[in-house]
Amino acid sequence: MCQEFSVSRDPVSQYCAGMEPVTRSCLVIVDVQRDFCDDQPGATLGVRFGGKVAGLIGDHLRSSIDDYDLLVVTGDWHVDPGPHFSESPDYRDSWPRHCVAGTIGATWHPQLEAALSDVDGRLPTVVIRKGSHQAAYSGFEGFEGFEQSERRSLDEVLRGASIGSLDIVGIATDHCVAATAIDALQLGYSIRVLGALTAAVDVGRGAECLAALAASGAVLEGAPPS
Ligand SMILES: [Zn+2]
Repeated sequence: MCQEFSVSRDPVSQYCAGMEPVTRSCLVIVDVQRDFCDDQPGATLGVRFGGKVAGLIGDHLRSSIDDYDLLVVTGDWHVDPGPHFSESPDYRDSWPRHCVAGTIGATWHPQLEAALSDVDGRLPTVVIRKGSHQAAYSGFEGFEGFEQSERRSLDEVLRGASIGSLDIVGIATDHCVAATAIDALQLGYSIRVLGALTAAVDVGRGAECLAALAASGAVLEGAPPS
């Protein structure tokens, strides 16, 4: 047993005799789903620049695939998320219906779908779905596959693959991207947020979230689209 590993996950202490160093890298693509992209017909919660960012993320995946050991793609997958949906949403804690399980709005943006198809088989890929029966902003609240029972959480997936560092991109900066990044930092991962590959519901709040993440130890690279 390695006591140090169980106590602390800071990068220096992640080396244990006989264990593989936790230094592998993962790209985490957060919620690039049609309902969140402003260029998609019928998107119920289209985020400005969502479509642009989806294309840029696809390009990044193709061009930088060799930088990563694992790809994680997260998505909302709402069956009955309670007050997360509202007829009179406040756009902070309640929202119009979006990413309902099994609907086209919950599918990946076509440009992400195309990129995933292009790199199929070149990088181990795990889909994490979240929010079936409650609000779930962070990917770390989600599980592999469609059903929660006996599925691995995102943290279990990452630990199982000896991942130590994450590049985080996606939608929306001020909600699911920020929540995922905060949880990652608290769980001890090194993270980099690729700002050019993020889109915010509220651009001002998105900038505040990125600044707060930087103050908490995240590396920020690139500026959000404007
Ligand atoms: Zn949602």
